[in-house]
Amino acid sequence: MGSPACGFLKQSNVIFLPFFMILVLSCIPGRTNLCSNHSLDTPTIPPHSGSSSIPLSLKSLALDGYFRFENIDHAAKDFGNIYHYLPIAVLHPKSVSDISSTIKHIFHMASVTKLAVAAKGRGHSLQGQAQAYQGVVINMESLERPSMHVQTGEVPYVDVSGGELWINILQETLKYGLSPKSWTDYLHLTVGGTLSNAGISGQAFRHGPQINNVYQLEVVTGKGEVLTCSDKQNADLFYGVLGGLGQFGIITRARISLAPARTMEHLISSENTFDYVEGFVIINRTGLLHNWRSSFNPKNPIQASQFRSDGKILYCLEMVKYFNPEETDILKSIENLLSELNYIPSTLFLSEVSYVEFLDRVHLSEIKLRSKGLWEVPHPWLNLLIPKSRIFDFTQEVFGNIVKDNSNGPILIYPVNKAKWNNRTSMVTPEEDIIYLVAFLSSALPSSTGTDGLEHIMTQNQRILDFCAEAQLGAKQYLPHYSTQDEWQAHFGPQWETFVQRKSAYDPLAILAPGQKIFQKAIPIS
Ligand code: FAD
Repeated sequence: MGSPACGFLKQSNVIFLPFFMILVLSCIPGRTNLCSNHSLDTPTIPPHSGSSSIPLSLKSLALDGYFRFENIDHAAKDFGNIYHYLPIAVLHPKSVSDISSTIKHIFHMASVTKLAVAAKGRGHSLQGQAQAYQGVVINMESLERPSMHVQTGEVPYVDVSGGELWINILQETLKYGLSPKSWTDYLHLTVGGTLSNAGISGQAFRHGPQINNVYQLEVVTGKGEVLTCSDKQNADLFYGVLGGLGQFGIITRARISLAPARTMEHLISSENTFDYVEGFVIINRTGLLHNWRSSFNPKNPIQASQFRSDGKILYCLEMVKYFNPEETDILKSIENLLSELNYIPSTLFLSEVSYVEFLDRVHLSEIKLRSKGLWEVPHPWLNLLIPKSRIFDFTQEVFGNIVKDNSNGPILIYPVNKAKWNNRTSMVTPEEDIIYLVAFLSSALPSSTGTDGLEHIMTQNQRILDFCAEAQLGAKQYLPHYSTQDEWQAHFGPQWETFVQRKSAYDPLAILAPGQKIFQKAIPIS
């Protein structure tokens, strides 16, 4: 294990952790509903709507912030870089009342305009979910707020703006020796953006996704009302908004549960286990370390260099144990945990980094990719949740016959125990207690017509989805993308009725988050 720099040791809020990777040659633990019949819609680049259609009335609103009507092409872009829907205006709100006034105004103008509104966090959506074709995009990062408020004590929490980045929350809460419990792999995403989906990472088996670690929200509904909601107050709105794909309101403030940043806590089912468990698959590669995210050192460099995968499918586990520098028996406890696993010893890698470095690890890759011009390429990602009972069927077909290698990007695969998940949110998951997240994180080479091109990857994604549907795996899409309401209805299954009821209660004219393509904006009959 590398020894940390002494300077680190002196900082009380810095935590060190060993960071392990184990390669396990086959096999996902062996051995249900409908996977949606997803149809690929073609990317659209609509023409500029022209200034004539800009409702002049928007300009007359008295705001603390401002609207921008020109040079707003950035609002028609996202991380996916596949769909581009140009809005007519971007609101840069300075206050919650700016958001509320704008939505109220659009709500009351509904008989004369089809304007819809999309909150935009970091715009790290994949298929235009934070865009609004000829509508209004609200740039949530502009929202001015009182500085983050950290509450210490027995039930610690932090109050943050809906447009706040998770990386900033980490930095601020660590000053108090505290930190949120559940994360995403990448922290340069906004609170509102991830809470509208779920926020899943290697801690979700222990703490649930991010949507299960929130005490309270402030929300502006599709009617422009500003409501506070929690498990006790406006609970229907609270659970509707969490995982609600932006459909019921705009999150302007969130109270996020914290825990001491140093937490000592069979991988996802035992209490005495690692603090983070993820995994990925390597298909048809010879070397070991083609991982985009982290640098690891082989435990035994000579043996590791001699290891040849010969194109086999390798399942790798990435596991983390948090510890404080003064803990002396950490290696022993890690060895004990490892001794219960069946893996190829020569493929054990490890690394020891600070807590922040670990959580913010993907940002390093971002910097590298940006410098090579490889960050702003199309990202035809596909994220699936597969029930444990069918993961074997899934891996056999998908890694055996559909995906020939993982040269277009990493493929994550890891189990999550839903025991700690609260099922009252809008998020849908397969029904079983243990589900696998499988994420195909592909990047496409612009203008390539080969296997690294957008068309090939999207066709491959569609084959995977078709297989899920035909084999009736009971899979669900995470960060879902559909183009027809029938598909959305199939996605939500029995939860569809509640979803529709909530929509009519909180956003009856379907003004919010049009980029999700779930509801059409309604024109009221006057
Ligand atoms: P945006 O893309 O701006 O918005 C997403 C949706 O939420 C839109 O419909 C938008 O209208 C709505 N929305 C935005 N802000 C608000 C608000 N304040 N109130 C209401 N609705 C709002 N996800 C995971 O779960 N785990 C991961 O490990 C993970 N890793 C990722 C790594 C990278 C590099 C990227 C690009 C994405 C990753 N994601 C991950 C997906 C990510 O969580 C979602 O794409 C998320 O929506 C992005 O947040 P954002 O702030 O960019 O949201």
